[in-house]
Amino acid sequence: MKQVKAKKHLGQHFLKDLGIAHDIADALTGHGGYKDVLEIGPGMGVLTQFLIKKDYNLTVIEIDRESVDYLKVHFPGLKIISGDFLRIDLSEKIETPYAVAGNFPYNISSQIFFSVLENKNLIPEVVGMVQKEVGMRIASGPGNKDYGILSVLLQAFYNIEYLFTVDEHVFNPPPRVKSGVIRLKRNERKELPCEEKLFFTVVKQSFQTRRKTLRNALKSLNLPVDFTSGKLFDLRAEQLSVQDFIELTLQIEELRKHGV
Ligand code: SAH
Repeated sequence: MKQVKAKKHLGQHFLKDLGIAHDIADALTGHGGYKDVLEIGPGMGVLTQFLIKKDYNLTVIEIDRESVDYLKVHFPGLKIISGDFLRIDLSEKIETPYAVAGNFPYNISSQIFFSVLENKNLIPEVVGMVQKEVGMRIASGPGNKDYGILSVLLQAFYNIEYLFTVDEHVFNPPPRVKSGVIRLKRNERKELPCEEKLFFTVVKQSFQTRRKTLRNALKSLNLPVDFTSGKLFDLRAEQLSVQDFIELTLQIEELRKHGV
């Protein structure tokens, strides 16, 4: 059967290096005791062939019909969901808890991680290849220029490791930038001590204008002047740890309880 022709609009960059595919599959540790693994965007199955050898129940989800047909021929018996990861309700389709793995389509990698966040109590581990810059961003801590919304939101619930960098030329066609493999392991925090929705709003709003002080960045929340005169509000979002954001959210919650 002939190879799948790479389609740009689906973010298709097929990995050629089997050693790297092997290492990505090997980076799953079983953390949290899952038996099921969901691979997003298997393409022609370079990673699938190594995942399948592991002791997990593997399900793959692929949007590209041509790739799905290819997989059906080359991996008979593989559980394939044909469709868009961002649109399909997986709740009936995969046993929980499950890990997420893949050489992700880079055009939707942020959306994949937001979806992981929504399902964080079902997903104890994620191993994925993303653009190097995105991987660094997700894994970096406060004080770092890469630190951003996804870093804080994901690090609130996951311990994150940047595992290794992957060169452009091991893909067909090569992407324009380097790639990076990251691993997320669900941490001990079952839930936040503050309202999660408000926490997300505070983090997003704080980073919206990352060069501004929190006092300016959070103007739209209409916080009272005496509240925002504190030292914390002299800081910029990138200087706050996850814990700082939690405490800030708790304080805002407290204010709101009192009708301020
Ligand atoms: N894992 C393969 C392919 C990586 S390219 C390899 O390493 O070679 C990314 C893959 O994600 C492509 O196969 C593409 O068709 C698929 N894809 C893109 N958007 C998707 C979506 N929304 N849902 C599921 N798969 C998607």
